[in-house]
Amino acid sequence: MPDRSRPVLSVEEALERILATVRMLESERVEILEATDRVLAEPVVADRDIPPLTNAAMDGYAVRGADVAEPSARLRVVGQVAAGHLGEARVEPGTAVRIMTGAPVPPGADTVVRFEDTRLDGEWVEVLKGYRTGRNVRPAGEDVRAGQEVLKPGEFLRPQEIGMLAAVGRTEVAVVRRPRVAILATGDEVVPPGEVAGPGQIRDANSYTVAAQVRRYGGVPLLLGAARDEEALVRQGIQEALVREADLIITSGGVSVGDFDLVKRVLAAEGEMRFWSLNMKPGRPLAFGVVGGIPLLGLPGNPVAAMISTALFARPAILKMQGFTDWPWPTVRARLAEPITRKDGRRHYLRVRLRKTEEGLEATLTGDQGSGILSSLVQADGLAVVPEEADHLPAGEMVEVLLLE
Ligand code: AMP
Ligand code: MG
Repeated sequence: MPDRSRPVLSVEEALERILATVRMLESERVEILEATDRVLAEPVVADRDIPPLTNAAMDGYAVRGADVAEPSARLRVVGQVAAGHLGEARVEPGTAVRIMTGAPVPPGADTVVRFEDTRLDGEWVEVLKGYRTGRNVRPAGEDVRAGQEVLKPGEFLRPQEIGMLAAVGRTEVAVVRRPRVAILATGDEVVPPGEVAGPGQIRDANSYTVAAQVRRYGGVPLLLGAARDEEALVRQGIQEALVREADLIITSGGVSVGDFDLVKRVLAAEGEMRFWSLNMKPGRPLAFGVVGGIPLLGLPGNPVAAMISTALFARPAILKMQGFTDWPWPTVRARLAEPITRKDGRRHYLRVRLRKTEEGLEATLTGDQGSGILSSLVQADGLAVVPEEADHLPAGEMVEVLLLE
């Protein structure tokens, strides 16, 4: 039975309202490896040139370009220099110094000839071909200049940025803090996975699905277990989330129009809450509000609805808290293997398996699309989006698929 007191919102409208209450968190200093996949919160400046000295790009001989312009030059080998050493030899006209990749080019030399282009004969080396001055020499600072800003605040730190932090001598760096996300299941029937589940009981899948998602999105999940359907217990769970300094609270269950749906009652008493009817399926009911200054997202209890709602609404909030400014979902386009009819005017997120064919990707439904069928998600590679206005899509139609990899 539809609840007429609830505003009907689109996914975009709901997300906009949620994000309007969410702010970027403060920064913290972490070891550089811990900064992987996080957002930088300070400028990073190079303390020195990289490379610090002009050096060889190849193993060979450091020479003077003027000596080797023509093929068959004969030079006397006067020393050698390896990477990590400064060497003592100087390259005077008519001489060469053996040099290894990365070793500093000795004074007097401006060119490196490769071993492959030489023939050694006692203390003499013959350079078989003519060389252009400057070949195989990497100038100091060609990668990074001392004083240069190599990374800017707001940048996402991928492995290559972590490498740059190391290269400029950083061991720690300021990044935006990870949000702590408290997760509270509700329902008299819900028991923890480690407990004996009686005939009328089910195990708490949602807390774990959501916690795993939170972790993927860069948050720190705080599992608060399942509260029975009693106002005092749900209130206690939310209080615990506040005591544990959650930045976001996610509940599951108890937001639809059922007799024991009390999350909404508790929340309406505790804070500022909105109960929405979203124009989507699965996941029509959603609660959102602020309790004790902390945003709270009340998910529906059905496992598929809970997971998809977390992906659509909690993910952007968790990313925004970490300093991200956009959160595109990896998407592909695929051809429907079968026709789809949905005449309720809602946006459907259908679980599909993807298969490569000669004509591109093909999407097949993973069976029963009920919002309680968790196995339909286990078998899915993605969520095919059926737009609100599409009431019939023939087989072969192209659809957008949100990847669940
Ligand atoms: P509710 O939104 O509380 O009416 O719950 C809707 C459906 O989801 C019911 O069949 C519940 O048993 C199921 N459900 C609620 N919470 C969980 C949970 N934590 N894990 C798995 N299923 C749940
Ligand atoms: Mg319930």
